[in-house]
Amino acid sequence: MKKENPFLTPTYIEATPITDKENPLESMMHRFDVAAELIGLDEGLYNYLKTPIKQVIVSVPVVMDDGHLEVFEGYRVIHNDIIGPSKGGIRYAPDVTIDEVRALAAWMTWKCAVANIPFGGAKGAVKCNPQKMSKGELERLTRRYTANMLDVFGPDRDIPAPDMNTNEQTMAWMMDTYSMHMKRTERAVVTGKPLILGGSAGRREATGRGVMLVTMTAMEKIGLKPKQSSVVVQGFGNVGSVSAHLLQQQGCTVIGIGDVSGGYYNKNGIDVDDAIAYCAKHTTLEGYKKAEKISMAELLELECDVLVPAAKEDQITAKNARKIKAKIISEGANGPTAANADKILVEKGILVIPDILANAGGVAVSYFEWVQDRMGYFWTLEEVNKKLGEMMVDAFNNVYDTAKKHNTTLRIGAYAFSIDKVAKALIVRGIYA
Ligand code: NAD
Repeated sequence: MKKENPFLTPTYIEATPITDKENPLESMMHRFDVAAELIGLDEGLYNYLKTPIKQVIVSVPVVMDDGHLEVFEGYRVIHNDIIGPSKGGIRYAPDVTIDEVRALAAWMTWKCAVANIPFGGAKGAVKCNPQKMSKGELERLTRRYTANMLDVFGPDRDIPAPDMNTNEQTMAWMMDTYSMHMKRTERAVVTGKPLILGGSAGRREATGRGVMLVTMTAMEKIGLKPKQSSVVVQGFGNVGSVSAHLLQQQGCTVIGIGDVSGGYYNKNGIDVDDAIAYCAKHTTLEGYKKAEKISMAELLELECDVLVPAAKEDQITAKNARKIKAKIISEGANGPTAANADKILVEKGILVIPDILANAGGVAVSYFEWVQDRMGYFWTLEEVNKKLGEMMVDAFNNVYDTAKKHNTTLRIGAYAFSIDKVAKALIVRGIYA
């Protein structure tokens, strides 16, 4: 029997204010403000939680392959470490700004808190163009950036991970540099490492697995049966392809997939493993013949039960939200829905599983990696997946209950839950004077 969407009451719709915010970071801040007001956050605590506790800017000199010296700018922003050491990725990008790093660091705080991971939030970056740098130049940049951040990083202080344009190799260089200075091998200083250096089983699939787990929980809540449900996934990289594969494994029919080359539709279902193999061979889905080629706009607007945006930010905005026909949107990507689309999606009765909940599986298994490194004892894939499953379902239920209590969306419920949690921890720790 079909269950009612519990969030479709007039007050619920009213609780989702309109905004013109279309920038993902401003969208996040806007939602933070809405949730803070909803839970009646004290003004002093509000100011405390809006402000990063530490912001470090370093210059990173690198001798380039042709012998000339270049000086790059590196950042690390610790949003807070109230609940535990701070955690967050390091990105390399030519246009990155400290403002962006500040917002991303705050995002990490809320993501960790929502999943009950005992970490605070941080983010780091180096302003550089990695596409134009050799492997040797990237290694020297990474090692000097790490050396300049020795006072910031540490397994009990602040733990980096990969982000845009950084990977397992970058983490191996960071771990090695830190270890050389500490005169001991310190695996737990970074996560997202190669398995041989203390990475965790299941890390690669963790985000997609988390997306699948919360999607299944949401489907159950509103009475959708996997075998009778259709799924569309935008983005066919790490998060998108794993989400599609696992949802298909659960019995759903994946009728649409898409990547940078466009959308692909087959009403009878796409064989996800076949598409993954095609993509591995051809880099993208371009030329995939077992489905009809459609535009990205058409892909997002397909009639389906579940839509998983897992490509990039701002894909669902006030411009196309009215045309979305999914019953559930499960946000694999960070910030795929602009704040100005929130109210429209509520009015349409679409249940949105917000990014800070839906894609928290990645940071959850990063946490497991840190725990295993510190124990010096490593879990099997089955153990990791079991723990991830428990964590994601608990997180979903906490957010769901918070949303119901405040008569609001899962998104604002997720922010309300995490802000409340961090604020309570801050109150009990007190302000050191
Ligand atoms: P990825 O690089 O592996 O894959 C990105 C996919 O998106 C590719 O298939 C690419 O072709 C597609 N894409 C790029 N531009 C597109 C466009 N304009 N239209 C349609 N498709 C486009 O990246 P990923 O690791 O899968 O990350 C995807 C999203 O998930 C990002 O927002 C990322 O921040 C977020 N995320 C990733 C993780 C993780 O563990 N990898 C964790 C949390 C959040």
